[in-house]
Amino acid sequence: MKQSEMLFHYQQHEAAVAIAQTRLGNNRLWEAISHAMEAWPYLDGMTLYLRRTYGQELVQYTAIEIVLKSAPYLLDMKSLVLAEELLQSNRKLRRYSATDLDEMLEDAVHDIQIAFQLWKLVESETTVQEKGSLQPSSDRFVDCWMRMGLLDRRSSKSAGPNGLTKVTNAKTITPCLCRSCGHLIQTRKIDALSPFQCENCGTFDSQLILSH
Ligand SMILES: [Zn+2]
Repeated sequence: MKQSEMLFHYQQHEAAVAIAQTRLGNNRLWEAISHAMEAWPYLDGMTLYLRRTYGQELVQYTAIEIVLKSAPYLLDMKSLVLAEELLQSNRKLRRYSATDLDEMLEDAVHDIQIAFQLWKLVESETTVQEKGSLQPSSDRFVDCWMRMGLLDRRSSKSAGPNGLTKVTNAKTITPCLCRSCGHLIQTRKIDALSPFQCENCGTFDSQLILSH
């Protein structure tokens, strides 16, 4: 690969990761994952650029890490599978990674199992006791889903000593955007959280939640 090509790949990678990180900061996890994945085709070129130009031994693969860290919160198994396939098809990524990507993948698979159990509980109970029915390990999921507008915290007389319950409003109808064709869909938040079929282009994918 020529120096100019490496530079191009590096720049494309950096641009996609920058957008992904901004979306992550705004709790727009679907978009963060989608932009992070746009950087994947440039990982090899970016690695070469950093190694040859700056003599960097190890590289931080933020574009992979964002996907591994975000996907469990969206119950997004598809993206985890894609990340696993990427790591399997490109052995260099493991070799040059500054972090243990295999361990991160294992953690993500563990996390998504917790997330599925927790979401099932939240959905079936509607009102979940803050303490008791939720394990401490579920706090970060609950916090994230609250930031995403999927859960709400309300005071309740019947909620025991903590005086708090978590109430899902996941059945609220909300506008969502198809990731393939941009078609606007009105659907329940819970439906937008897992992949479903776009009525316009027929693509079976996760939709972007546009409003809380
Ligand atoms: Zn569509």
